[in-house]
Amino acid sequence: MSNLTPMMKQYMKIKKKYPNTIVFFRLGDFYEMFFDDAITASKELEITLTQRDCGGDKKAPMCGVPHHVSDSYISKLVEKGYKVAICEQLEDPSVAKGLVKRDVIRIVTPGTITDLNVLDEKSNNYLVSIYLDDIGIGISYVDTTTGEMYTTEYIGNKEGSYAFVLDELGKIYPSEIIVNNSFMQNKKFVRSIETRINPFINLYDDNFITQKDWEKLILSHFNINNLNIIGIKDKIYSIISTGVLIDYLYDTQKSSLEHITQLNYYEPKEYMILDINTRINLEIHETIRSREKKGSLIGILDKTSTAMGGRLLKKWLEQPLININEIKKRQEIVEHFVDDIILMDQVKNCLRGIYDLERLVGKISYGNCNARDLVSLKISIEKIPELKNLLLQSGQKNFIELAMIIDPMKDVYDLIDKSIIDNPPISIKEGGLIKEGYNQDLDELKRASIDGKQWLAKLESKEKENTGIKNLRIGFNKKSGYFFEVTKSNLNLVPDYFIRKQTLTNSERFITKELKEIENKIIGAEDKMIEIEYMIFQDIRKRVKNETYRIQKVSKLISQIDVLNSFAQVAYENNYIKPQLNDKGIIHIVEGRHPVVEKTIENEMFVPNNTYLDMDSNRVQIITGPNMAGKSTYMRQVAIITLMAQIGSFIPAKEANIGIVDRIFTRIGASDNLSQGESTFMVEMNEVSNIIKNATKNSLIILDEVGRGTSTYDGLSIAWAIVEYIANEIKAKTLFATHYHELTELEEKIEGIKNLTILVEERGEEIIFLRKIIEGSTNRSYGIEVAKLAGINNKIIDRANEVLHQIEKKHNFAIDQKPDKLDKQLSVDDYKKEYFIDKINKIDVSKITPIEAINILYDLSEEAKRLKEKA
Ligand code: ADP
Ligand code: MG
Repeated sequence: MSNLTPMMKQYMKIKKKYPNTIVFFRLGDFYEMFFDDAITASKELEITLTQRDCGGDKKAPMCGVPHHVSDSYISKLVEKGYKVAICEQLEDPSVAKGLVKRDVIRIVTPGTITDLNVLDEKSNNYLVSIYLDDIGIGISYVDTTTGEMYTTEYIGNKEGSYAFVLDELGKIYPSEIIVNNSFMQNKKFVRSIETRINPFINLYDDNFITQKDWEKLILSHFNINNLNIIGIKDKIYSIISTGVLIDYLYDTQKSSLEHITQLNYYEPKEYMILDINTRINLEIHETIRSREKKGSLIGILDKTSTAMGGRLLKKWLEQPLININEIKKRQEIVEHFVDDIILMDQVKNCLRGIYDLERLVGKISYGNCNARDLVSLKISIEKIPELKNLLLQSGQKNFIELAMIIDPMKDVYDLIDKSIIDNPPISIKEGGLIKEGYNQDLDELKRASIDGKQWLAKLESKEKENTGIKNLRIGFNKKSGYFFEVTKSNLNLVPDYFIRKQTLTNSERFITKELKEIENKIIGAEDKMIEIEYMIFQDIRKRVKNETYRIQKVSKLISQIDVLNSFAQVAYENNYIKPQLNDKGIIHIVEGRHPVVEKTIENEMFVPNNTYLDMDSNRVQIITGPNMAGKSTYMRQVAIITLMAQIGSFIPAKEANIGIVDRIFTRIGASDNLSQGESTFMVEMNEVSNIIKNATKNSLIILDEVGRGTSTYDGLSIAWAIVEYIANEIKAKTLFATHYHELTELEEKIEGIKNLTILVEERGEEIIFLRKIIEGSTNRSYGIEVAKLAGINNKIIDRANEVLHQIEKKHNFAIDQKPDKLDKQLSVDDYKKEYFIDKINKIDVSKITPIEAINILYDLSEEAKRLKEKA
């Protein structure tokens, strides 16, 4: 260390403070990285690794990126899961004495990145802070680009805390989380978060956390004197998680973060809860297969015109409402738009001209906005009076109420309009930003510089005449300023008062006293102009920043109008209707459709289906029917329609009355989770266990072929017991699709269970799917027919039919009877006795053929062997 160069010593000192980051060390026009940072970065960014002398005879690995394109490199590293500490020169190197002062001015992390080039404009980028102990958990999160901050907490045992945080994380989908030691102790849980969400994880030490006065930090950030103002007075867990979050932000952003103006406390129970599996299974945000927005529910619903609206729609889908009046408020506005298509279009066109106000405000607060951002803000604000007028003119009470609270922000508009030119350059440090007439000093300097150009022209023609040099010309370059240029052939005409400055191949350059005087005036004026323009810009930026809260308020209203306008457009284009709502737990859908499938099937028409579920005799529906008939589609359709109704959207149906549900649960298909080290069946049972624990009579449960991941008897028995339990104990509305047709017997046994099946038509060897749900059941799965449709060759199909036949013959009895045994809780001995008696009783000795007799004898002896083994 001792023989390091002074600069290297400075680097080492800074690096030591930021051990878990890659330090971008500013050296002139470059950011350089050294040692391990350089090795990592050169690999990740695919840039050349070089070396630099660092004192003595030591060399340090080094790589660098030009400062003006650094953003993309920083974003690339952050996206790959690194943190980047940006170390700047804090003084002008040309005037600094000795070593230039340097320090880290910001740490860019996955959850705090503000580079809008890499962020999805219609998604929030969240940083989450979690504090967990034995009694409770606090969760707080922020989007640093928009300034939104939220918090919630849960008091209860650890198991409850884990379920709570998993649901919330599934909703928030953070790119980075901050957690305490206790949280990290549950390795399995942390691993499951990593595989599902994969956030960057930071650890805060419990000792550090318990020592700090978080309340004080929060009060000072929001500039308030009582936590009641932001609704977290007695929320001790929220206070800690929020405090840690703010602490981390100050630590990394090193700015005052004035655009984080509010903390929103919420209780998850105020909304419909969707656990992470349900979100995935219902393909709300992306498809399961390709993980694309196209083909997901939001892909259909998102016709928003602004980025803010897009983000709000996402939030609404994550938190459907349970309060009927609030839903109705949304519905009414959607209805107004649907009833007045012209207004709907006009509002849409107006919204299209509005930029991402929330993120613009964020940029302004961060201090990294330029004049163009202010112009974008101005252009957006310009649209607001138009929007206001459209709503006022509609004559609708709801619209007028909305319009009344929209702040047209004329003062902010005027401020920018008066001062900033309409097409400013990107750079704010080279002048050319400010309009004439805004600042007198600036205008005078501008005149001086224009006048200066005229003086130069005059001087040029004067000296041309004096000297007789016809091609005498005044030139300029940055290094030597203004000069007279005289070509070789005319050198003999140069007078004595010309002072030689420079000799070139074909010409020489001179200055005169007079020229120098003009130059001083011009260059002085230009430097001053740039300086004044920069100051004016900073002043305007600050004044706009003071209006942050107002701009945030108006952008909130705009995003709401945008989402409701989008709902209307989607409803209009796809023939959706406004559902009625009830709190009686009745879900009645007439000719309901699946909003995504109806758009994706190509050669077929989508067949609508009716649904009736209630809290008594139609609680549970067992749906049997062939493969590919449309069972899964139907069940998802019911869940999605209910979800859509509860966010205030119209729905794909002819008529509907939707009973509000508190949660939707789904267990669909065999989603494999082998990467988590669990078998499919284990995952399936975990999910079912979660449903059983958390469902209430007001929930909607979708179970699709539960019990499939194990042997037939096991699976059937478990499915049977689960349905019984849900129907008798939980009493939640449930749709259960299954190939265990034995389950249809439950209809007879439990009040509230109904059987449904999907119509198919058999034509010779083929089956035709009619897609119509009817009451009743089927005991055929048509798996082999479906395999045939899929193109499996005849040899296999014929053989499968043969095998099926044999198996059915052999096991018919056992499969059919097994649930009954369970039901009556028979002992193994009883079971043995009944099996044999029953089998023998069934034989009609007068009709049996010798072969059948041998077959039965064979079955009996096999079963006897099996039972003997077991006993
Ligand atoms: P199952 O779960 O019974 O095996 P799915 O619900 O997966 O069947 O449906 C299989 C396919 O049938 C779907 O991908 C879709 O293309 C089509 N389908 C399902 N329901 C309908 C319907 N109501 N109308 C038209 N096509 C449908
Ligand atoms: Mg299915």
